[in-house]
Order: sequence, then structure tokens, then C-alpha cells
Amino acid sequence: MIVADRKSIPEIRDMIKDYDRVLLVGCGTCVTVCLAGGERETGILGSALRMSMRLIGRGDMVIDECTIERQCDDAFIDLLAPRVADYDAICSLGCGAGVQMLAERFTKTPVFPALNTQFIGILQSQGVWTEKCAACGACRLGEFVGICPIGRCAKRLFNGPCGGSKDGKCEIDPSIECAWQLIYDRAKELGVLEKFEEIAEPHDWSTALDGGPRKMVREDQRIDDLKAKD
Ligand code: SF4
Ligand code: SF4
Repeated sequence: MIVADRKSIPEIRDMIKDYDRVLLVGCGTCVTVCLAGGERETGILGSALRMSMRLIGRGDMVIDECTIERQCDDAFIDLLAPRVADYDAICSLGCGAGVQMLAERFTKTPVFPALNTQFIGILQSQGVWTEKCAACGACRLGEFVGICPIGRCAKRLFNGPCGGSKDGKCEIDPSIECAWQLIYDRAKELGVLEKFEEIAEPHDWSTALDGGPRKMVREDQRIDDLKAKD
């Protein structure tokens, strides 16, 4: 999932305080699961912002809330569209993709982000999310026994650990596991350690963000007449 957390109330307040009617828009998918921008968090943010606005003399401001299933999918934005004309600005609790999708769709309405999008990761334990994938566009998990040296090694090493690995932890932070210790342990467990005697190929970063903004086209899924709505 995309993992995100919320900006502070003063940060959000300062972005929207000059508008009279603001719609907070939550998203029912990744940011709901990571407890940052779902229906519940949108309601809590709405209450907190209304109180905060009163404290700066903007108690007259209208701040309403709604949550759609996905902000990165035009079909769900259709459900939001009839409401948007009633507001001067939107504050999105979607990830960065959701915020930009709303900005693309509602060209005359300012759109602000309520969240900081962090990474692609998993719920490691209650209240703890960890990064697992850097979306490099050319997955090599098959080479590395299912543990990603791009997303999980601080130095993105492909041929074993650096000298800083200590007691299974990464030198950048003793709470972070050394990806290469994990790769080694799992390879040993699977009986495939000899695979790592060969030098791994350098990575082709052209498919990652380094190659510029990315786009994926599935010709088998395209319907030419179906264009994004205004
Ligand atoms: S190799 Fe690339 S796509 Fe695969 S998990 Fe790592 S960063 Fe993600
Ligand atoms: S300690 Fe391990 S995870 Fe950290 S940078 Fe070195 S090899 Fe990578």
C-alpha cells in the first residue's frame, strides 16, 4: 500500500485559511488502511480545523467533509464532482497521486494536500509501517530471495552488505534491519547461498524515477473513445 501521514493542523490551516468554503476529501483505499486519510481521519481533521479556525478568528469558515472510494480513479471522482462547485478550495487526504488527480479534474478549484505521502510499504505491526518497495519499475526480487536491496538497503547495494552492518541491523539506524543480513539468512534457509557468488548486474535505473515521469500503457485494456472527463 501507499503509506502516508497527516500534516500538522497549523500547516493545513495555513494552506486553507484564506478560503471561505473548503471541502476536505478523504480516500477510502491505501490512506484508509494506513489510518491517515479515510472517513474517520477526515472527520477528525474537519473537527480539528474548525476549532483551529475559530482560534484565529475564522470561525465563519465552512469546512465540510466527504470521502470517496479512490481519489486516483476518475469513476469515483464523478461522485464528488457535483459538490465541488459549492466550495472555494479542496483539501485532499489522498496520497500525492490522489491530490494531483483532483487538481487535474477540477481545474478552477485550488487543491491542497493534507498528507505527506511517504512510501510503498506494509503494516509491520500495529501502528508501525515499513518501506518495502521503491517502485523501480524492473523488479529483481527473484534474484534477491524476495527481499529488496533497493527499497530496504540504505545504500542500495546489489552485491552484499557494506561494512556497517552490525548484529543484523543497518548502520543508519539500529531499529532498521540490514537488508543484506536478511537476504543472507533467507538464502541460507532456502539453501541457495551459492547464487550470491555471482556478481549481480548493475540496475537499469531508466525504468525508475531517474528516467523521468513514468507511464504504463496496457493496449489490451484500452478503449479509445473513453477519455477523462472535464
Ligand atoms: S526490485 Fe524494484 S519493484 Fe521490486 S521490490 Fe525492489 S524497488 Fe520494488
Ligand atoms: S548496513 Fe545493511 S542495509 Fe544498511 S546500508 Fe549496509 S548493507 Fe545496506
